[in-house]
Amino acid sequence: MDNPRPNSKKTLEVNKVRLCDCKKSSYYFLQGRALGIYDNELNCGDCLGQISYSKLSIDIEIENWQRHHGKTYLNYLESDFFEEKALKELKNHDKGILNKEGQKVRRQLATYLKKPVYYMYFATDESPDSLCPICKTKGKLTGHGRPYKICKKCDSAFGAGE
Ligand SMILES: [Zn+2]
Ligand SMILES: [Zn+2]
Repeated sequence: MDNPRPNSKKTLEVNKVRLCDCKKSSYYFLQGRALGIYDNELNCGDCLGQISYSKLSIDIEIENWQRHHGKTYLNYLESDFFEEKALKELKNHDKGILNKEGQKVRRQLATYLKKPVYYMYFATDESPDSLCPICKTKGKLTGHGRPYKICKKCDSAFGAGE
């Protein structure tokens, strides 16, 4: 008798907004807004479900930053004139204003949620072999297809598995 085909691991990363309903999340992922490509922006590290912003303190500047990120991303996608500049900004991981702003939001979230929050840096070449964008080490597996790994030293999340 034939073995049944195993379920694909990819089912968790469908690009649909699904809210986290875990009682407690052990950690989180923060990602800049990418306008419909990936709808999820703050996700539970356990189930990958989205965390509703209504659960956050209004002092956390996540929505401002998401707007800024979304506009930059749109420039990258749609504007020949701004494309290069936008890509440079998105990929300026440690010194760019956009990512510095994102890192500030990440710190605010970690303090508020009292759990680790890992920042997903923008990348155009994600693979299982991706290294931490900041310290260039291999990182630790998350158990998810994307983000595939985290670096606890830099609070970064990166890579994509098969
Ligand atoms: Zn969850
Ligand atoms: Zn690192």
